[in-house]
Amino acid sequence: MIDWVGRSVAVVGAGVSGLVCAQRLQNVGCEVQVLDKSGDIGGRLATRLGPEGFWNHGAQGLAVSQPEFAVLAGDLVAAESAAFVGPESSLAGQPYMRELLRPLADEVECRFDCAVGSVARVAGGWRLLDQQGGLHGDFAALVLAMPAPQALGLLSTMRESASVTDLAPELARLVDSLAVVEYASCWSLLVQGPRLHSVLSELVELPVSGSDVIAGIYPQADTDYWVVHATAQWSARHLEEDRASAAQALLMELKSLCSAAAGFRVEQVEAHRWRYSTVSTPAALPALWSSELGLGLCGDWCQPAATQAVSDAHGAQAAFLSGGTLAELMGAGLAKGHDLGNNPTKQ
Ligand SMILES: Cc1cc2nc3c(=O)[nH]c(=O)nc-3n(C[C@H](O)[C@H](O)[C@H](O)COP(=O)(O)OP(=O)(O)OC[C@H]3O[C@@H](n4cnc5c(N)ncnc54)[C@H](O)[C@@H]3O)c2cc1C
Repeated sequence: MIDWVGRSVAVVGAGVSGLVCAQRLQNVGCEVQVLDKSGDIGGRLATRLGPEGFWNHGAQGLAVSQPEFAVLAGDLVAAESAAFVGPESSLAGQPYMRELLRPLADEVECRFDCAVGSVARVAGGWRLLDQQGGLHGDFAALVLAMPAPQALGLLSTMRESASVTDLAPELARLVDSLAVVEYASCWSLLVQGPRLHSVLSELVELPVSGSDVIAGIYPQADTDYWVVHATAQWSARHLEEDRASAAQALLMELKSLCSAAAGFRVEQVEAHRWRYSTVSTPAALPALWSSELGLGLCGDWCQPAATQAVSDAHGAQAAFLSGGTLAELMGAGLAKGHDLGNNPTKQ
C-alpha cells in the first residue's frame, strides 16, 4: 500500500470524478493539484453567467439513487451548494449548477485555464506541459478525470517518454480499456430574451413532442434565460457545424414550436457543442489504476459491476463512484467519507 502523505498527485479535470478523487487523496495527506482547461469547476455540470442570469448548459438536474451519492448529496445540501428541485426532486447546484461541487473544490488546490497538452513519464513520476507552454510537476502520480476519448488523446502524447518503454504493455492495457467507450454528443442552445419565460413556459413539459431536433427545453430559475438541448441524432448530424449556424437552426426550431411565436424575441443567443455529452457505451470497470505507471483514470465512462446496488449509476453518479473508487484503488480508501470543510491538510 502506498503511503501518500506528502506525495504529490496531479488530477487533470475539475468535474465530479476529478474533484471527488482529489478530495479523498487530499484527505489522506496527499498534495493534490487539480488542473482544468475551463475557467472554473464543474466540467459538464457547467454554468455560463450572463449579465442578469445564468445558463446551466450541461446537466440540468441529477438523479440520486446510489446510497453513497445520496450521502454526498446530503452533505452538499447541508452546505447550501445544492438543493433538490423540480417535480422529480433532482439534485441541482445552488444558486447554479457548477456550485454543486464548490465544497469539494474548496478542499483542494485548483488551477484553471490550464489545458494540459501533453503528459510525460519521467524518472520521478509525471511532468505535464500545458498548451501555453507551462511545465507542471514532477508529480508522483497522475489522474486523468475526463471523457475517455480525451484521456486517450493525452495518453497518446506519452508514448514517446523514455521511461515508458518497459511499461508499454501496461500502457497498451489501459488504452484498450478506454478505446471501447462511446459518447453521444449534444448541442446546447443558450438563449435569453424579454418575456421569454411566458412565451416558452408551455414547452417545458418533456419530452418535447413533434420535434426530432429538440430533446429538452429548460427554464433557468424562472428567469428569461433558457437552455435547449438538441437530440443526440440531430447533434450527431450537425457535429462539425459552426456555432452560429447551429444556434440559428435550433432557434428556428424552437420558435416553430411556440404557439405564441409573435412574442418570441431574443437578445442573447449562443450554441455550445458537447462533443462528449453522455456515455452510450461504457467501459466495464469502475476505474483504472496502474501502480507501475502511477497513473489513474476515472470518469462517467466507467461502469461499476452490475450489482443491484449500482445498476442504474450513470452520468454524474457514475462519475462520482468512479472518482471515489480510483482513490480507493490508489490506497486512499480510508478517506471514504466526504468530511466537507473538515480537512486538516488544507488551511
Ligand atoms: C447536455 C448534458 C446533459 C446531461 N444530463 C445529465 C443528467 O440529466 N444526469 C446526469 O447524471 N448526468 C448528465 N450529464 C452527464 C454529466 O454531466 C456527466 O456524466 C458528469 O458531469 C461527468 O463528470 P466527469 O468528471 O466524468 O467529467 P467532466 O465533467 O467532463 O469533467 C472533465 C473535466 O476535464 C477537463 N479537461 C478535459 N481535458 C482536459 C485537458 N487536456 N486539460 C485540462 N482539463 C481538461 C474538462 O474541462 C472538464 O472540466 C449530462 C451532460 C451533458 C453535457
